[in-house]
Amino acid sequence: MALRSGALCLNLLASSRHFYKPASYVGVRFVSENVSSKPSSATETPGDHLIYTPEHFALKESLRKLIDQEINPHVDQWEAEEKFPAHKVFKILGSAGFLGVNKPVEYGGLGLDFSYSVAVAEELGTIKCGGIPMAIGVQSDMATPALARFGSDELKKEFLLPSIMGDKVACLGVSEVGAGSDVSSIMTKAVRKGDEYVINGGKMWTTNGTQADWMCLLANTSDGPPHRNKSLICLPMNLPGVHIARKIDKLGMWSSDTAEVFFDDVRVPCKNVIGQEGMGFTYQMLQFQEERLWAVANVITTMDNVIQDTIQYTRQRKIFKQPVLYHQAVHFKLAELQTEVELLRSLLYRATALYIKGNDVTKLASMAKLKAGRLAREVSDSCLQYWGGMGFTKDVLVSRFYRDSRLLSIGAGADEVMLGIICKYMDTLPRK
Ligand SMILES: Cc1cc2nc3c(=O)[nH]c(=O)nc-3n(C[C@H](O)[C@H](O)[C@H](O)COP(=O)(O)OP(=O)(O)OC[C@H]3O[C@@H](n4cnc5c(N)ncnc54)[C@H](O)[C@@H]3O)c2cc1C
Repeated sequence: MALRSGALCLNLLASSRHFYKPASYVGVRFVSENVSSKPSSATETPGDHLIYTPEHFALKESLRKLIDQEINPHVDQWEAEEKFPAHKVFKILGSAGFLGVNKPVEYGGLGLDFSYSVAVAEELGTIKCGGIPMAIGVQSDMATPALARFGSDELKKEFLLPSIMGDKVACLGVSEVGAGSDVSSIMTKAVRKGDEYVINGGKMWTTNGTQADWMCLLANTSDGPPHRNKSLICLPMNLPGVHIARKIDKLGMWSSDTAEVFFDDVRVPCKNVIGQEGMGFTYQMLQFQEERLWAVANVITTMDNVIQDTIQYTRQRKIFKQPVLYHQAVHFKLAELQTEVELLRSLLYRATALYIKGNDVTKLASMAKLKAGRLAREVSDSCLQYWGGMGFTKDVLVSRFYRDSRLLSIGAGADEVMLGIICKYMDTLPRK
């Protein structure tokens, strides 16, 4: 299925204004028809792919080179330091066009459809940790979709454009100390005083929070019913009254900074509200769909890579006079895991294909997110087992993936929240 004609896509890429081009990789904005694609998994070949065109493969290859040159060599250091330089990394990615592939061209994006974001998310899975891809995903597909879709021209110029170009770091402020799964119960308030909101409350678990220049904030802007009283507001993080309370120590995702943030009489212009006041809950639910599909695409690549790493390791590691891999329990289990990954990939591509045609894919995206979280836990646990003691060291990808991937069943809506949504669509929830 051709998503977009090659000529149109290449024109768009070539007409982009900004670029970053280190000696040996081609920025997205300079992709040419001659770029050969190097698939990151056996199922991905240009020509017969379900949703990707040669342009998707060219985009992925270009990003892969950037990751190999600019990100992966530093990952171990950033993991050890428990922080990565978001402004520096985002500038590199933004200059090359990777932070807004599906965002409007007039705000620095490439104007492509969401399948290109999925392709980018997949390729970001080649980064050798979970924290940096997550931080990038917050910038490109979690804190900015509602702004791109519903924000005013003025807001998009002030916050979207610099985020896409990598000049500003974004974060998403939804979860609070007392409200994560139940988004409707957040307590942060933005009270109108003249033409300003006065904001009080706080946010918890804010990815990029210690480095961010602005937050896409969900706050209560009235006392109405919980699904109609919330608004998304673009909140500059350097305003008086914004306090970064702490950087949270975590089980995994070490290189990603996670903050707890307080708001103490923060004054922000009312024009910073995204779209219509009172529509924030709805906008955030829409924004979650892209976040969840992005997360699925991202973790699929990591699962592929962990399975491949495990095959390589167990092929050369001998026990009882033969490679670990040759024990049937091991190669059968790896075959089962890869089968599950392929099923998930098919669901992701189906959901993506429907989404870019304008369909509501809430049910499929929730199913994919649920399955991805559970499968990531199974893949990381099973594979780590076959590495023996080596799997218990910090030196191997599988142990980092074991720690990092645990988040997927909790963040962006826990497994049980996904099940609740699926049940709602199946009309099986108890009637009130
Ligand atoms: C590293 C990290 C980064 C994050 N980044 C961000 C971010 O950038 N922005 C942001 O807004 N949030 C972020 N989050 C927050 C994340 O989305 C929440 O942690 C998540 O939504 C769960 O909320 P909670 O932690 O409050 O758990 P709770 O809401 O307290 O839920 C606890 C558990 O209850 C169970 N549960 C939930 N609902 C049901 C149900 N209906 N039935 C049965 N059991 C149920 C689940 O197992 C759940 O894990 C991040 C979290 C982490 C850990």
